[in-house]
Amino acid sequence: MQPGTFEVLVLGSNGALPAYERFPSSQLLHVNERLYLIDCGEGTQFQLRKYGVRISRIRQIFITHLHGDHVYGLPGLITTFQLMRRSEKLEIFGPPGIQSFCEQVLGWTTSQLQFELRCHELRELNGVQFFDDEAVRVSALPLEHKVPCVGYLFREKKERRKLDAVRLRAEGIPEICWRSLERGEDVQLPDGRRLAHAEYTISPPPGRSFAYCADTIYTRALLPYLHKVDLLYHETTFLHELEATAKEYGHSTTVQAAELAREADVRALLTGHYSARYEDPETLAMECRSVFAPVITGKEGLKIIVPWPREAGAPYATV
Ligand SMILES: [Zn+2]
Repeated sequence: MQPGTFEVLVLGSNGALPAYERFPSSQLLHVNERLYLIDCGEGTQFQLRKYGVRISRIRQIFITHLHGDHVYGLPGLITTFQLMRRSEKLEIFGPPGIQSFCEQVLGWTTSQLQFELRCHELRELNGVQFFDDEAVRVSALPLEHKVPCVGYLFREKKERRKLDAVRLRAEGIPEICWRSLERGEDVQLPDGRRLAHAEYTISPPPGRSFAYCADTIYTRALLPYLHKVDLLYHETTFLHELEATAKEYGHSTTVQAAELAREADVRALLTGHYSARYEDPETLAMECRSVFAPVITGKEGLKIIVPWPREAGAPYATV
């Protein structure tokens, strides 16, 4: 099977207050030919341009919650789409209130859109799948923050099962039956033999996965959904010495994020949503690594390439 693209581009890695030229939250997931924008903090469209993203290819935007550092980039981006004479539908997923936010801000700025803007408010967050297309399936995860907050789990769609041509030939199965087996149908041969399609086809390896968990306190409720995901983005707003502060503001510490990553047995943890008090994100990533080794320090412009096929223990390429 040909490996497709599965990449995450960090557009903004900072928490609420501007600091050290970092941008507020936003990431772009690129799966094969599809682009998915996740969170859209202030300045996201400038970051998309800076890193050469063709923004017209974005068809879906996934918003975690309605704090400004995750949504204030939306009005500008939507207006740009309008100025670019977009005609394709744009879908925005998010918590209850996302539709009102878009309507109000576009109403106040008297923006008449020439394309269809469809908002979907997500209320069921227990791993329920709410979107799919030819590249991915997306599920909503329960985050715990100061306001309703949605986590997102993206799973690459598997290809269909492949014929086991070696076995089919070895057993002399007539080629006229092969297509039926490939389509998932069992076959009865003229000699009475019954062929189960599962025995004559090979399951493709599971698709790659990316989970986006911010903003949230440390919550073990996420564990069942995060088991063995290929890349987990989990906010690391504070060093662990500020555990009480993190809880008070609905955030997590480095150690908490790393513990969750270790418990869920994920392949790699991506850090981000740094408090403005920290100049060097590496300080936070280092503390994560004291608990869980495969940590990638999120920073603006970093692209993480999730490989295919996976090689056990191999670090992910970053650009
Ligand atoms: Zn927040």
